[in-house]
Amino acid sequence: MRRISIFGATGSIGQNTLDLLTPGSVKIVVLTGGANIARLAEDAIRFGADLAVTAFDDRLADLRAALAGSGVEAAAGQGALADAADCPADWIMSAIVGSAGLVPSLRAARHGTTLALANKESLVCAGPLLLAEAHRHGTTILPVDSEHSAVFQALVGEDMRAVEKVIITGSGGGLRDVPLDRLHDATPEQAGTHPNWDMGARITVDSASMFNKGMELIETKEFFGLPASKIDTVIHPQSLIHALVQFDDGALMAHLGAPDMRHAIGYALNWPDRAHVPVARLDLAEVARLDFHAPDPARYPALAIARGVMERGGLSGAVFNAAKEAALDLFLDRDIRFTDMAPLVERTLEGMYATGCLDAATLNLDMVLQTDRQARDVARDIAPTL
Ligand code: NAD
Ligand code: MG
Repeated sequence: MRRISIFGATGSIGQNTLDLLTPGSVKIVVLTGGANIARLAEDAIRFGADLAVTAFDDRLADLRAALAGSGVEAAAGQGALADAADCPADWIMSAIVGSAGLVPSLRAARHGTTLALANKESLVCAGPLLLAEAHRHGTTILPVDSEHSAVFQALVGEDMRAVEKVIITGSGGGLRDVPLDRLHDATPEQAGTHPNWDMGARITVDSASMFNKGMELIETKEFFGLPASKIDTVIHPQSLIHALVQFDDGALMAHLGAPDMRHAIGYALNWPDRAHVPVARLDLAEVARLDFHAPDPARYPALAIARGVMERGGLSGAVFNAAKEAALDLFLDRDIRFTDMAPLVERTLEGMYATGCLDAATLNLDMVLQTDRQARDVARDIAPTL
């Protein structure tokens, strides 16, 4: 029986992954979660998992109580999360949100099996490190971000040298139609509503600011090894085309599907085969039209900041992500405005570039983690001066 572990099982991606699995037809080795102990315990019992891990040390007693008598082992804390990635599994889903997903992703990449990667932060913060680790240990990484899964699928059987350009689409997020001069008033509730996708709270706000698309530009560069000049993004309000690949004969291959993450998750689950996935089918006559427009740089400054990071490389991705996470926390806590997030990330990057410590030729985990912490501190220091 196939052995599967899911990191971030209680989140949006984790729940969509479990939705595609049937208890008894796979062996669930590890499920991890955060504060939602009831969800974690219920799924762990339903699937007969070997181990359930909560990220929070102080929730261990609750988890133990919820699992009492079930035979599922309980553990807690960041160390236990990382160790859980060493439990033998054939397929591991990395779907923790934020840079907290980096260490489990790296550990999971050491076992020569398959790592389904939803945690885009791993690639943004430490792409070269993660890919080298996977390469060294013969681990297959399958992208689970919808755009990257779409590009991956469009590239099957193709020669990377024939790729002229990759275009990832973005809906423009929940504030797309808010007048530019009203954007600064946007609340976390308004930014936390997405027109097409049902996702976790943090990525939904990142979609409104297009920091998510910025992350995805960097992710594309890292995962597919393409220069920034070959990666583009376009606003496509319907979210039906997830990405396109343009080849040097002028052919443009698009991946279409309903905006449902089970497409990308199902593809990674069944790869290299395809199998039935219970997502809605597109009726093109009903769809009738597909719209596109270029993103307005004034509305989405995150895109230009991400491009700077792509050019710079080294540890700048780790700073970009950490500053973005700090900015998002401050916005969600109503300490800064929606439109303050991009200047805060930009100034954090500038401040840390000035120290000259970001241009490392090769990355290691300690450098990335230290840079992550430092960037959060710098961002929090800058925030009151905005
Ligand atoms: P979510 O917030 O719904 O779930 C996050 C999961 O991570 C939960 O299980 C939570 O308990 C766990 N978690 C949170 N903080 C943690 C910490 N400090 N340590 C350990 N675990 C922690 O998030 P999501 O929307 O499912 O996103 C997960 C990842 O997938 C993110 O990297 C996101 O960018 C990426 N992604 C999500 C979608 C989507 O549709 N939701 C699409 C593409 C990519
Ligand atoms: Mg995406």
